[in-house]
This record gives sequence, structure tokens and C-alpha cells, in this order.
Amino acid sequence: MLIIMKLESPRKDIESVKNKIAEKNCIPHEIPGASKLGIGITGPTNLLIEEDFSSMDSVEEVIRVTKPYKLVSREMKPDSTVINLNEIKIGGDELTIIAGPCSVESRQQLFDIAGVLKEMGIKLLRAGAYKPRSSPYSFQGLKEKGVEYLLDVKKELGMMIVTEAKDTKSLPLIAAAADVIQIGARNMQNFSLLEEVGQLSNAVLLKRGLAATIEDLLMSAEYILSQGNFNVVLCERGIRTFETMTRNTLDLNAIPMIKKNSHLPIIVDPSHGIGIWDKVPSMALAAIACGADGLMIEVHNHPDKALSDGFQSLTPKNLKKLLDKIEQLASIVDRKINYYATVK
Ligand code: PEP
Ligand code: MN
Repeated sequence: MLIIMKLESPRKDIESVKNKIAEKNCIPHEIPGASKLGIGITGPTNLLIEEDFSSMDSVEEVIRVTKPYKLVSREMKPDSTVINLNEIKIGGDELTIIAGPCSVESRQQLFDIAGVLKEMGIKLLRAGAYKPRSSPYSFQGLKEKGVEYLLDVKKELGMMIVTEAKDTKSLPLIAAAADVIQIGARNMQNFSLLEEVGQLSNAVLLKRGLAATIEDLLMSAEYILSQGNFNVVLCERGIRTFETMTRNTLDLNAIPMIKKNSHLPIIVDPSHGIGIWDKVPSMALAAIACGADGLMIEVHNHPDKALSDGFQSLTPKNLKKLLDKIEQLASIVDRKINYYATVK
């Protein structure tokens, strides 16, 4: 259920509504809109009576939200969410470019790649320190050492960090280093991990599960918002289908469908989506064309030597070529790129 408060409602009326919700064993969530305040309600809302609220002072409207996800829905919040990360935003009219290697492999490797990305104007560096790999014999990441190198890059180069939290055990260490905590596809339905990131204030990048529907993804995001963290960015990264010629099937349908059903920003990871480096640029451009709020792209300075996902990684030079095309496309889709292309 959603309660829309009248314009400039006094705080005491807002608090009375919230207290009444709590009395009924439900949870009120303030959702600031462009002009009016919404109060989203979660919990056993079937026991609530609409008239009990519509008769209260300053209440403009009471709306029943019929979907299984509530706080992430557009019904609950009609304006698109824009997440503020220092000088850049994710969502709104900005296009966010996240780039970096699949994994932190060494201090030198991370600094070499981060240095060249920074020169291109990339603000958000991705790199995994804890890697959830399909085979237990594959490189599992540098773990604590990897986080230490990410912190060094953050301090020395001033880049913001996107890195994955693989489990609740490593979450505190990741949360201390990451500007954006990545929840990987394999963990999209790790509900205890989702609840824990929900209690933090870091932005969260939630990747779609390998066999998850769009509704499953939205319900997983709901777990995070329901704990109080509204800084969630969704990520389409391809799903498993009968197709074997590509690593995954990038479901670009998800972009307009998520835009219709949710206020959360959605970015696309074309690297995992198609899994073939020289096809990544086409899918990246397609993602922007269909309304994605940004991209997360794997980049490696020596893709043939990468310890993970080299076959789908662009070299910095190829990323630069793609960024030039994205820059042209951005004006067609009425977007600004929130990195500053200083290397032409
Ligand atoms: C990654 O971003 O490197 C990764 C492991 O992604 P996913 O969880 O989408 O497979
Ligand atoms: Mn990867």
C-alpha cells in the first residue's frame, strides 16, 4: 500500500500516519517524490483498511500496490531514482560507464589498467577481489590482498570502486572499500546477503541471476530496499537460454520492461552478456539505444593473459573506440556521459 501525502504536509501529520502504520505491525518507508511525499507500506498490508488512512489529516490518496514487489515499483515512486556518487550520478539523464578488469590480479595489473582508464575519464573502476567461479579450481580472486590494492587505487588515483561481495563473511571488508557493492548473478537470490547489504548505505549493483526472470530480479532488489537501502542499481548481464553460440543471451527486452515497472536505474553488462570481446561494442551500443542508464565493461591490458574472462575483455584502446561511439549515440538518446573524455 502507498499513501500520498498532500503538498507541504506538516511533519506531525506524516508522523501520525507512520505511527498508525506501525501500530498495525506494518513498516512505513518515506519515499520522497519530485513534489509530494509518499509513504510506502510493507508487511501484512492485507490487514490494513484504506479508510483508516484516507480520513487522516494531510493524506491525499491511498493506493493499493498489487505487485509482489512494492518499494521498487513505479507505482510506489513514479519518478526515476537517481543515485548520487560524489561528482557523478547513476540514472536520470546521465550515462554511467563502469570499466575495469574482471579480477584484481596484482597491484601492478590493477594500477596499469586503472591509470589508463582514469586518463580516459572513467570514474568508476570495477574489479573483483572475491570471485565466485563456476569451477572450484579456477582463480578465486586475491581476496583481502585484492581489497587492499583497490583501496590503494582509490586513494592514489581517486577512482571510485565497484567490487563484488561474495558472501556475508567478506561483506564488512568489501563495504569499507566499495563505493558500489556488486552482488553477482550467482548471489542474486542469496537473501541473507541481500538483507545485509540492505542495512548498509553503500550503493549496490544487483546483477540479474543466470536463470532469473525480470520479476525475480525486482523481488531481489525489494529485499535490499525493504531493509532501508534505496541506493540500488540493477544490472542486466545476460541469461541462460538454449543458445550456445554466445556465453549468455543478453536480454535487452529487460531494459524497457524494468523502466516501465521500476523507478530504479538499470545498467547493462555486455561483456558477460555476449561473452565475446569483439561483439561487446555492438551490444553496448544496443543497450544505450534501448534506454540503459549505463554500462559495465570488462577491460584488460593483456586480455590473453587475464586470470578470468580475458576472452570477453576489451583492451583500453578498444574501449576508447567504443566510448567515442557512445558519445555520439548519447546525444541521440538525450543523455550526457558522466565521464570526461580527455584522451581523443
Ligand atoms: C563479474 O562481473 O565479473 C561477474 C562475475 O559477473 P556475474 O555475476 O554477472 O557472472
Ligand atoms: Mn567477469
